[in-house]
Amino acid sequence: MPIKILDPQVVSKIAAGEVVERPASVVKELVENALDAGASQITVEAQGGGISLIKVSDNGSGIPAGEVELAFARHATSKLSALPDLEKIATLGFRGEALPSIAAMADVELLTRAADDAAASYIRLANGRATHREKRSRPRGTTVTVHHLFRHFPARLKFLKSPTTENSHIANLLTQYALAFPEVKFSLSLDGRLTLRTPGNGNLRDAVAEIYGLEAAQQMLEVNSTEPGYTVTGLVSPPSLSRSSRNYLSFFVNRRWVRSSLLSRSAEDAYQGLLMSGKHPLVMVNVALPPQEVDVNVHPTKTEVKFRNNQTVYAAVARAVKTALQQSPPPRVKTGKAAAPPAPRLFTAVPEDKPAPPPTTSYPTPQSAASVVKNGDVPALPVLRVLGQMAASYILAEGPEGLYLIDQHAAHERIIFDKVLAQRAQQGVEVQGLLEPLNIELSPGQEQTLNSRNELLRQFGFNLEHFGDRSYLLRAVPAVMAGANLAEAVRALLDSLASDDEPATKREETVAQSLACHGAVKAGQQLTFEEMRSLIRQLEETASPRTCPHGRPTMIYLSSRQLAREFGR
Ligand code: ADP
Ligand code: MG
Repeated sequence: MPIKILDPQVVSKIAAGEVVERPASVVKELVENALDAGASQITVEAQGGGISLIKVSDNGSGIPAGEVELAFARHATSKLSALPDLEKIATLGFRGEALPSIAAMADVELLTRAADDAAASYIRLANGRATHREKRSRPRGTTVTVHHLFRHFPARLKFLKSPTTENSHIANLLTQYALAFPEVKFSLSLDGRLTLRTPGNGNLRDAVAEIYGLEAAQQMLEVNSTEPGYTVTGLVSPPSLSRSSRNYLSFFVNRRWVRSSLLSRSAEDAYQGLLMSGKHPLVMVNVALPPQEVDVNVHPTKTEVKFRNNQTVYAAVARAVKTALQQSPPPRVKTGKAAAPPAPRLFTAVPEDKPAPPPTTSYPTPQSAASVVKNGDVPALPVLRVLGQMAASYILAEGPEGLYLIDQHAAHERIIFDKVLAQRAQQGVEVQGLLEPLNIELSPGQEQTLNSRNELLRQFGFNLEHFGDRSYLLRAVPAVMAGANLAEAVRALLDSLASDDEPATKREETVAQSLACHGAVKAGQQLTFEEMRSLIRQLEETASPRTCPHGRPTMIYLSSRQLAREFGR
């Protein structure tokens, strides 16, 4: 085929496809427009994951009647006029691409009134072209309604995830903007249910309380540091508060929400040595710097930025977070269970004739060997004799041929992982009801995950009942979780299930892994000899006693011969 210049229609569809990847991209562009218009109140509604409907209303400046149609023309913007402006962008939008791109992908209605106009302008577009115009009434501001996204783009539709997953992308997006703009009142309804509402009083901590719960909000440490050219502000969690995923790291550059591995690294590096491996902090930090120092025109969706000086930004953020962490009280010394938050009281839901585990300890629970599948390929563990515990973290045990140092947490993880999966495959997961239900606050994203994974969680023994807003009552848990910090465990579990890409079988393992991680005895917890013996006995029964479910070793083995050699015998 000879080279020829593409038809403008095709060009605009290609460009639109880059801006509007999924329903959340539409929400992002419309919310950014509302913020650029100086709105103090932004209301978002979505239905069917945003595929059937997205509606964003604001009380911002509105679009003057004479410019309404122009706003839908490609590369039409009020935010940029000459090339030098591109070097110092102070608005979220600047490419003039969002409205035309959205109109190319969906049916759109716009109702807007600028302060100087007597009436509001209403316009309806199909396939990017205006099909209807009239005057209506409304107070100052703009409402954009988007219907049937991708209706004429079956290939795009096919790549979308389930409506609940698309909903959770929308919820996550609103979360980010609510954290970036605490002075704006945001509200989000998904399928008619109010999912998020922020006070808009300008206080970031109050926004965090709405999103991540009061308990987290109260503990967050303030970041506020100014260096020549850089101001870093926000909130970060103290080392005692962490999450099992990076979903709680939010970064803004001149209040634009960005994804930046540089910023994630700089913040996380500040926590070095303060968090257990696999744990991540909660961070919401804005880096303010002169617009010339950052290039925001890197990608059509504007979520990536380039800094002129990576090193300086990295150092400024790391220093700011470190300074904040110095305000935190020194970590408490762990003494057995006392360091863990009190576990709710439990009763057992298994029939009376089965012995219930003691209510105050999560462990040991007698394990019937029959319920564990043995894998013949793996060398089994010999019978071990417990010698003692070291550093309240390792069990020392003697085997016929040498010494074993067993990581109590990793070993217990392996036991729980195998036990839960075996129960799941056979008689069903053993459940424990809570004497008093535990009230758990979920983030909007977690709530969406719960909606789509409720059946899976039920099969693993969780009973979560909606209580109002984003509060849930936890009424029952898998028996292996007794003694764990249940609120944290449930939230971490939901985070680990957020991805839609996992096949169903892998998802069961993800649940089992999460249960193992939170149900297992912690390092730093003193164990009695009987507890240690029981743990070793159960470990012997597992299919792969030498590795934890994450693949790390559960034990170190020193053979008698090695010892003899070390001692020069
Ligand atoms: P950009 O935001 O990059 O300028 P858009 O296509 O998103 O491009 O919007 C085009 C123009 O329409 C904006 O520059 C702005 O003038 C106007 N506009 C869009 N949405 C709003 C809104 N919610 N309130 C006021 N003006 C708006
Ligand atoms: Mg825009």
